[in-house]
Amino acid sequence: MDTPQSTDEGRQRPLILIVDDVKANIQVLAEILRDLGEVAFATDGPTALARAAELRPNLILLDVAMPGMDGHEVCRRLAADEATRHIPVIFVTARSDDSDEEAGLALGAIDFIRKPLSPTIVRARVRNHLAFQQTAADLRVANAELRRLAATDPLTGVFNRRRFLELAETEMRRLGRNGRAFGLIMMDVDHFKSINDTRGHAAGDHVLKAMADTCVGHLRTVDAVGRLGGEEFAILLPETDLPGVRLTAERLRESLGGLEVPINADTINFTISAGYTAVSDARDTVDDALKRADEALYQAKKLGRNRAICHADLKGTKKRP
Ligand code: GH3
Ligand code: MG
Ligand code: MG
Repeated sequence: MDTPQSTDEGRQRPLILIVDDVKANIQVLAEILRDLGEVAFATDGPTALARAAELRPNLILLDVAMPGMDGHEVCRRLAADEATRHIPVIFVTARSDDSDEEAGLALGAIDFIRKPLSPTIVRARVRNHLAFQQTAADLRVANAELRRLAATDPLTGVFNRRRFLELAETEMRRLGRNGRAFGLIMMDVDHFKSINDTRGHAAGDHVLKAMADTCVGHLRTVDAVGRLGGEEFAILLPETDLPGVRLTAERLRESLGGLEVPINADTINFTISAGYTAVSDARDTVDDALKRADEALYQAKKLGRNRAICHADLKGTKKRP
């Protein structure tokens, strides 16, 4: 999953947290930065930590010399907390020796501003850091979108084959740890070719989309729907034993069979066939489980379609050639 984000990226204006034990200093800084963003403040270290975690500001201007917890300690604690570690910190200090600056940078501060404050320099530095931070935030959003697209089937919006198989592998590992069975269902639209042939390819696409939406709508949020290819879908049911898989497969088959997909002032009905299996042995593999579900699906087709068949019930029936 995505890494936790340091700030609220939906915010309109950046938020700058100013930390200084002298209120007058906060007022001066707030005035200098007024048009660069919203300003929040804290006058001691513990309050600064609480406000940083609560508000997730885009930038923190942190006084070094404060009674009680000093700026260095605040910086250390911000870095130690998952919720605040990504928030950039600029130290504001009256000390002027290099070792102090080095110590601050070693703690993870991105910059230093010296007192007495020069308004133009303060503004320029803060503006640069905010711009850089915005670029980084834009990149994170773009990356998340790319990851989503790389995992999604564009027509139906459900997981693509690659991502679905990854999720099944994750479930397999979970079974190895906690021994909880999971279910796997494979579904295929019956006579889909004739829908395409008589109603057109676009109508076929509508059916696939409606089918995916219906499956997602009927399942728990922990379940995963994937389009394995063409008109074949698979469903992963975490922490579900065989009776649960059976119930789900039957329920989906019935719901999908009752769908009326609107197409050009008309509707299309269709049925699906399903094959399913439960995975309860950690020595099993995703590959084998998929093969079992596929064999059961093949039997469902052979026995006349519009049915859901459990692999465990196959016994001696002819396997897919
Ligand atoms: P069965 O009941 O045995 O499953 O028969 P069927 O006609 O559903 O199966 P078949 O495998 O013969 O045909 C599947 C068709 O699905 C053929 C292919 O052109 C069509 N198809 C595959 N992907 C898409 C798609 O993304 N959109 C549309 N509209 N059709 C697709
Ligand atoms: Mg101070
Ligand atoms: Mg089919």
